[in-house]
Amino acid sequence: MTDLLDSLRAIVGAPHVLTDGDLGAWEQDWRKRARGKALAVVRPADTAQVAAVVKACAAAGTAIVPQGGNTGLAVGAIPDESGTQVVLSLTRMNAIRGIDAANLTMTVDAGCVLQTLQEAADQAGFLFPLSLAAEGSCTIGGNLATNAGGTQVVRYGNTRDLCLGLEVVTAQGEVWDGLTGLRKDNTGYDLRDLLVGS
Ligand SMILES: Cc1cc2nc3c(=O)[nH]c(=O)nc-3n(C[C@H](O)[C@H](O)[C@H](O)COP(=O)(O)OP(=O)(O)OC[C@H]3O[C@@H](n4cnc5c(N)ncnc54)[C@H](O)[C@@H]3O)c2cc1C
Repeated sequence: MTDLLDSLRAIVGAPHVLTDGDLGAWEQDWRKRARGKALAVVRPADTAQVAAVVKACAAAGTAIVPQGGNTGLAVGAIPDESGTQVVLSLTRMNAIRGIDAANLTMTVDAGCVLQTLQEAADQAGFLFPLSLAAEGSCTIGGNLATNAGGTQVVRYGNTRDLCLGLEVVTAQGEVWDGLTGLRKDNTGYDLRDLLVGS
């Protein structure tokens, strides 16, 4: 495990591989019903680092628990009690990559907080309609992974209905570039819809 931790430090930088101190923010679920124990909390800065982390963990046979805002209510974002799982926290990946006003789309990092998205859309004169009480903490990656509904779901649909494309790191650590803003896309199988709600 020391080898793996050294590899992870080389990928994301030692300050972003947390193993000591109180890791409760990452190990405990939002309702404080369950607490796990992580081998480490790893905080990558970009997609390439996520891919490298996943590859290193796959090679070591170490399980990964992705985590956004840790506001999920189904205890899916925390590690189990074994002390062998790596929490992959996406919160450093919080950039709004761009807003395409003509296409009515925005491209954002997985760890972008929902409220930040809403505000960026608003400032550009648009509405990003996904809204839930955890919006100040939950991330768009978590919203997509849970296919969150929220208060406007009847009018605008689940998060799935608000997403045109995805950039995905596979369990093998490869990057699938499905980051398209194309609405009329009937090519091949719909991996996006398979992955949303994963
Ligand atoms: C007060 C409150 C109100 C809520 N209201 C609603 C509501 O109205 N509707 C609703 O649907 N939910 C609601 N929720 C639940 C929760 O906020 C949502 O499920 C939210 O989408 C989770 O986002 P998160 O970033 O916190 O994800 P997390 O809790 O961090 O993770 C949730 C799941 O997604 C996975 N995950 C997270 N990020 C990624 C990623 N980048 N890639 C792959 N997998 C990932 C995790 O492994 C975990 O399984 C509410 C929660 C609270 C606390």
